[in-house]
Amino acid sequence: MDVLMRGVRGSIATPTPETSLYGGNTACLEVRADNGQGLFLDAGTGLRGAWPNPPSSGEAHVFLTHGHADHIVGLWFFQPLHMPGWTTYLYLPEWLMLLPDFFCQCGFFPVPFDQLKGRVIRCPIKAGDSLTLSSGVAVEAFAAQHPGGCLGYRAMADGSVLVYTGDHEILPGEAARKAAGDLLRGADLAVVDAQYNSADYQPGFGHSAWEDWLEAAAQAGVKRLVLTHHDPNRSDHELGLLEKSLLELTGGHDLKVQVAHDGLRLILGAAGPRGPADPKQPLSQYSYRSMYRLGFKPGTIKTS
Ligand SMILES: [Zn+2]
Ligand SMILES: [Zn+2]
Repeated sequence: MDVLMRGVRGSIATPTPETSLYGGNTACLEVRADNGQGLFLDAGTGLRGAWPNPPSSGEAHVFLTHGHADHIVGLWFFQPLHMPGWTTYLYLPEWLMLLPDFFCQCGFFPVPFDQLKGRVIRCPIKAGDSLTLSSGVAVEAFAAQHPGGCLGYRAMADGSVLVYTGDHEILPGEAARKAAGDLLRGADLAVVDAQYNSADYQPGFGHSAWEDWLEAAAQAGVKRLVLTHHDPNRSDHELGLLEKSLLELTGGHDLKVQVAHDGLRLILGAAGPRGPADPKQPLSQYSYRSMYRLGFKPGTIKTS
């Protein structure tokens, strides 16, 4: 399974010099099975860079966690929605089936959603639902703790398990901490909402402190934990310090932890590093630039 972080910022996009290294695009993950077919989890601004020049026809699958702007605003800029040969399956939490229409009716986007050139099939999804896509990727939805409701997703393919929490707050108390561990159980890779740290955590705002995820992931036996949905006020300098402290904290432990950045790509399972998921546009130039400036080598990280 091939996982590409296309957007790692929470709440609002941050196209500023102070955040350009880790990236300012809002929530979006691209997930592909070893056969090259895949899906997108969330449709923040990070979705815009996916398939800028897609083939004339195809099938896309986009799963939304909830309706907050940082998770949906990129949907209208997803190229397949504007191409007659494409069918996009849009998996909407069941309470959001009319969300695309409301946005257009309010003047958010000039073209009514039902008049887009591409075919869109809306699929209601709720916690507890599971389905297997034609790509072979199995997806399960679970309830996340977030104001207004939110879904998280567990994606399974090629013998690997990815857990993406969407927006999720680990509330104080033993029960909530145990529940967070249960969400992550069995994950080879867990990508989690770590907007806060224990010092700036805002109870009830719907997001977690990264320290709590460390505890939950260790309990659940997660192999690799990726912290995402960074607070819009979190600068590159601060995230860099966090990354450094995580290395020191987890060095020598079974649990690997890292801070997500736009363009971070992880390959799970025995298939090992392969070519880019989309050879025409493996990563945006923006992502490459960010990685170079951070001193990362563009490429892949094998996790098993
Ligand atoms: Zn969010
Ligand atoms: Zn939210």
